[in-house]
Parts: sequence; structure tokens; C-alpha cells
Amino acid sequence: MSSSKWLPTACILCSRNCGIEVQVDGGHITRVRGDRAHPLSEGYLCQKAARLDYYQNHADRLASPLRRRVDGSYEEVSWEVAIAEVAERLRDIRARHGARACALYGGGGQGNHLGGIYARGLVQALGTRFHYTAMAQEKTGDFWVNGRLFGRQSCHLTEGVEHAEVVVVIGTNPWQAHGIRNARETLRAISRDPARTLVVIDPRRTETAALANLHLQLRPGTDAFLLAAMLSVMVREGLEDRSFHQARTCGFESVRAALAEVPVEQFASRAGIATEEVVKVARLIARAKSASVRVDLGLQQSLHSTLNSYLEKLLFLVPGHFNRRGCNTFHTFFVPLVGHSDDPAAGKESWTTTVTGVREIGKLFPPNVLPAEIATEHSGRLRALVVDSANVVLTGADTQAYRAALSKLELLVVIDVALTETARMAHYVLPASSQFEKWETSFFQLEFPTQVAQLRRPLFGAHPGTLPEPEIYRRLLVAMGKLPRGGFPLLRGVARLSRRLFPAALAATLKLRPRLGPYAAFVLYDTLGRVLPEGAAATTPLWAAAQQYASRHAEAVRRTGLSGNGAQLGEALFARLLGSPSGARISTHEHGEMWRVIRHADGRIHLDVPEMLDALRALRSEPEPANAAAFPLTLIAGDRRSYNANQIFRDPRWRKTDGDGALRIHPEDARQLGLAEGATAVCESSRGQIPVRVALDDTLLRGVVSLPHGYGNDYPDGNAGRRAAGPMLNLLTDAAHCDPLTATPYHKNVRVRLRPR
Ligand code: SF4
Repeated sequence: MSSSKWLPTACILCSRNCGIEVQVDGGHITRVRGDRAHPLSEGYLCQKAARLDYYQNHADRLASPLRRRVDGSYEEVSWEVAIAEVAERLRDIRARHGARACALYGGGGQGNHLGGIYARGLVQALGTRFHYTAMAQEKTGDFWVNGRLFGRQSCHLTEGVEHAEVVVVIGTNPWQAHGIRNARETLRAISRDPARTLVVIDPRRTETAALANLHLQLRPGTDAFLLAAMLSVMVREGLEDRSFHQARTCGFESVRAALAEVPVEQFASRAGIATEEVVKVARLIARAKSASVRVDLGLQQSLHSTLNSYLEKLLFLVPGHFNRRGCNTFHTFFVPLVGHSDDPAAGKESWTTTVTGVREIGKLFPPNVLPAEIATEHSGRLRALVVDSANVVLTGADTQAYRAALSKLELLVVIDVALTETARMAHYVLPASSQFEKWETSFFQLEFPTQVAQLRRPLFGAHPGTLPEPEIYRRLLVAMGKLPRGGFPLLRGVARLSRRLFPAALAATLKLRPRLGPYAAFVLYDTLGRVLPEGAAATTPLWAAAQQYASRHAEAVRRTGLSGNGAQLGEALFARLLGSPSGARISTHEHGEMWRVIRHADGRIHLDVPEMLDALRALRSEPEPANAAAFPLTLIAGDRRSYNANQIFRDPRWRKTDGDGALRIHPEDARQLGLAEGATAVCESSRGQIPVRVALDDTLLRGVVSLPHGYGNDYPDGNAGRRAAGPMLNLLTDAAHCDPLTATPYHKNVRVRLRPR
């Protein structure tokens, strides 16, 4: 397709999924601009989107299913052979070793969530609950705390940053990491407004910190101490919102008692922040008319990860900055990104991992324990793993452990666009069409008050030899005997004849054949999907989502200008999505109705979380982190920079700057180590070592260094070889260095040493 027309789609490089318009020519994305018609981003974009053609076109794209030979090389096989053999081997392992021997990793990334719905069908077919995902090495502490506070781990919050009098940013640099709406415009607006205050809590003087009114440059890993000290000031000075707690919470007295015991000066000192600053910020937040707290991985992947998530929520809950304009609040999910798992002691349905005994949270399992679940003599070990859209060899903690473990699997299947480092270890590689070659969407609708969704149309035909993930999973389930080979001709006929009658016919089919229930997405794909225009079959789960969403949030959906009730309103919502390639508003909410999100029977926020209050008390006797003598530097592993994304880019030429992902270090530390700007050095941890290039950076504290994520993959070097670009970060990380409750790795606090190379 060649077109001087601007075609709407979305940037797939971070969770904001900004609307963009592109021009294409000869299979390439030639021009990119922000899409003003996108209801949220309204034309905004950052520098990364301009480089998207490096994702669409590169030398590592797959063009045929691959099967590994005994000697480790690969041979191309047909789709029929690949599907039949993968299905047979999965069935065989399941039959011999049971459902607990099988697992899925991934199923969707920053912009390709549609396939994830179909991936769940495979999980059902295998009878397993072991669904590992990158989100469970980042966010499950947050989900677990939400479950305790609000009654379900799927009760998720967003921020009111755009309207807050005080904005507190902890452990994230939205200037580079985004995460909030049109981040750079929003940050500039706050910093220019004398009536508003931006507070940044971060070990580095980031671009966001440079715009802030106040920057608390704490020592890495001390967030829990600093937050506890600020909260203690609030309760000691009576700055809590009593009417809010009377009306909306329970357990506040237990929380107040625990916070009152916090030794403020001692904790402030541990964090490296003057007590006066702690008091000043605590008062500022508590006395503001509105305050919003924005956090991300700098907090969630640091020491005390789950406790940090609890304390940052108390930071807005204690002073009552909740579910009001300019404050943190709930949002709805159009399609849930996270489910709910009961605590193992209480829940009959929840699983724990077989070898490591780690709990399921939000229906997800943490990649951090995956190698230990495979590389063991335990009879219940994992033996079959399907990896979808994830390069876990590079993204999971401890690359060496991952390599050793994956090599022990009886079956590793990788579904991906590219021949990644993980794919190169697979027994079968199933090539997927790119995100611009199929209908796609993302489920990162985490907004309040207005939710937006975008169904993206393909820009290109499918790359030769590839299939979209929904079709890969459909074929697998047919081969596994879970779906009929001939599909559902009767129901397809009803879909063709009458959309009005279709919901009843679908319900009757699922009632008559209850075994199809877990595979409803595939039933829709093969029926309603076959009569949708322009090959949009895979989008039909969103028809079901639209029906459910319109039923649950009818008034909020109608506020966007749609009318009708029940199925009619759901149809109207789905039709709007199909007909709005730049994205569409799906609901507009009001604060008052959001209290219904709370799932505790009493409708209150349960502030008293005993495990967290115990962890808070334990801080008082916690020694300084170990390993400081042998490894004197603290590495922040996974900096966000101008040209890193996830592992989606393989061609290193996509980066305009920082091609080898330099290690940043304070100039004085570098001088003492005999390292100059641009020097090469060896960075070493207890797990491994990597070469790095040194960049002097006085925005860091002394004793702290940082490396970016998203590097380390290899790529053809033009001389028949391959060359890795930048740090392979997870050669340094240790899976055992993690949160005890969630197994979230402490990537922002890795002990290392440095020497000239
Ligand atoms: S990387 Fe930039 S352009 Fe792309 S979605 Fe994120 S903020 Fe938008």
C-alpha cells in the first residue's frame, strides 16, 4: 500500500498509546504525526513515535513457522505441521504431567492486547492457571494492596494530575516515562502555574524534577522510610481528614497508632532528607485543597515494593484526597487488565507456584520465579511453556538463570514478530503479523472521567508467512479438539441474518454447549466476526466487552452522546468503536458513582492491612542493605530515556542518541574510579558482569549509577555476524533480591561495582 493519505493508528511504544497518523509507502511507515482527532492525546506525541518503521521493518522479522532440529538449527515447516505438532505435544505433556506442568508467558504488550484475549483460551484449554506476565514483575504489589483496601485486586486507581493543586511524583520521570496524559504539556502547565505545586521524590534530578517546586532527592531504596515519616507528621499534627474517614473508611485508628510510632527524624535521616523538608511536604500535601500522587516502577521495583504501594496510597487517603477533582480516584476497565485472586489461605480457587510457593495475584504469576519452577528436579516442575510477544530471556531477572531454565523445558513455543533471544531457544517459533498488519487495540484505558478506546485498522497486509495471534490460537484450539473444525455455521448464519437475534442465539449455543464457555471469544470470532467488514473478525471480543460495559455503566456511556438501553446501547458502543479509527470516547463518569467500585461488603475502604502495618513496624529495626562493602554502588536498573522502549525494537539504528545505553555516574565517583566521560568499564554484580560505556551525570547522587532498559538484544552487524547493542541488564540482576510477598524484583536497587575495562 502506498498512500500520501494520513492513516490513523496509534503509537505502540508506551502505555499512553497516543493517537498518530502515518503515511505509508512500499510497506514502510514514511511519515508520522500526532492525530488531533484522538480524543485523549489530541495530536500530542513524543520523539519515539517517529521511529516506528524500525519496528515494522527489520532483519529479524519471521516469515515462516520454525521447528528446531536435534542439532539446534531450525527448519521451516508449514503452518499445518507446526500447529498439529505443537497441539499434540501440549496435549501429551498435559496428559502425562497434568495442568500444572504447563504455563503461558505474556500475551500482549504495550499496544497489542487483542491477542491476549485469545491467549487466555489456550490457558483454559491446558487447564492451567499459570499465566506469567511482565506486569507481575512490576504491578502486583499495587494490585494486592488494592485488593486489601478496596475489596478486589481489580479495583484500580488513576490520578487527577491535571487538576491537582499539589502533584506528588514518586519513582517516575513522566518527562521520559510518560504514564500521564500528554506528559510534557501537563508537567509544563503545572510548573508554570503559581497556584500549583509539583513535588518530585526521586534519587535522580530527572527532567521532571528539574521542573518541580520541590525535589526530595532520597537515597535509593528508602521510599518506605520517607513516606512513613511524612505520614507520621500528618497524624501527629492532626492533619488527617476526619470527616472523610468517618464517612468512607474503617481501620484508621490502627493506622494512626502505627504511624504515630514512626521515628520521624530517624527515618528522614535514613532517606537522606532533612526533617524540615519532610515536615514541609507532609503539611503541603495534607493542607492542599486537592493532591494527586503519581507513582511507577521507581517505587514499585524498589526495596519494600508492596509496603511502598501501601504507603503511597495512605499519602492521599490519610488527608482525604480521594475521589474528588484533582485527587486519585477509581477508573473503570473497558476490558480488565487485571483480575482478582483470593489470598491462598482464603481462596479455594487460587494457586501458588509448585516449587517456590508464590501466590497468584490478579490472576497473574511473577516471572521472577519462573526459572526456579522449571530448573528443578521437583516432579511437579513446569515442562511446557508458550511465550507470546515477550523476550523474557532479556527482560526477566537473571538472564543466565532464564537461559539455563528454558533449555530444560520439554516444550518451548514462542509466538512473536521477531526471532528474539527467547525465540532462538524455542522448539517451535510461530510468526505473528506485526501490530500494523492486523486489527489491534490496547486495554490501557485507565482514565477518569472520560474513558477512550481505539480499534486500530491494519496499515499493511500480513507479512508473508505470518498470522495474527487470534488465528494462531484458534488453529491451536481446533487441533487440540477444543473447537469444532467446521466452526459454527448455524450461529454464523444468524449473525449474517440478524444482529438483533444474534445475542440470544449466542446465549442459547453457550447454554447448550457449556464446554464452549471458556472459548466464547473464538465462537464470536467464527460467527459475528465473519460478517464484520474489512476482516475485523478478531475484534469481536470487544463486541462482548461493549455489551457488558454498556450494561454496567449505562449512564456513563450515555453521557458520551449515545442513546439506548441494554443490548442496543452495547451495539451502539461497538459500532462507534468500529467506525472511529482515531479512537472514541466510551464513557464519562462522575465521582459520586465511583464509590460503587469498592467491593468490600460495607462499601468502605479498609485501611488497616495487618501485613503492611507489621512491615511498617519492622522498618525500625531494619539494618542497612547487605553487600555494601563488596559492591559499593547502587544501580538503578531500567532507566527511562529518550530512545529506549521495551524489547519491541531490534534494529539499533532506531535510536538517535545513546546508542549503547551508557552507564550514568556522578563525575566525582567516576574520577575516583579513574573513569572519564566515554570510557568503557565493567559493571559487576553478585550474578554477573557486563561491559558499559560511562557517561558523567551530576543529576545522580554520589554512590548511585543507572542503566537503561530495552537494550542488549543482538542484531546483524553487516559482516555476517551479530552484535549486541547496549547493556544486557539482567545479567546483573538477581531473582532472589525481591519482595517477599509478590516476588517483584528490586531492579531499582541492585548492588554493583565498577572497574575500568
Ligand atoms: S512513546 Fe511517546 S508517542 Fe508513543 S505512546 Fe508514549 S508518549 Fe505517546
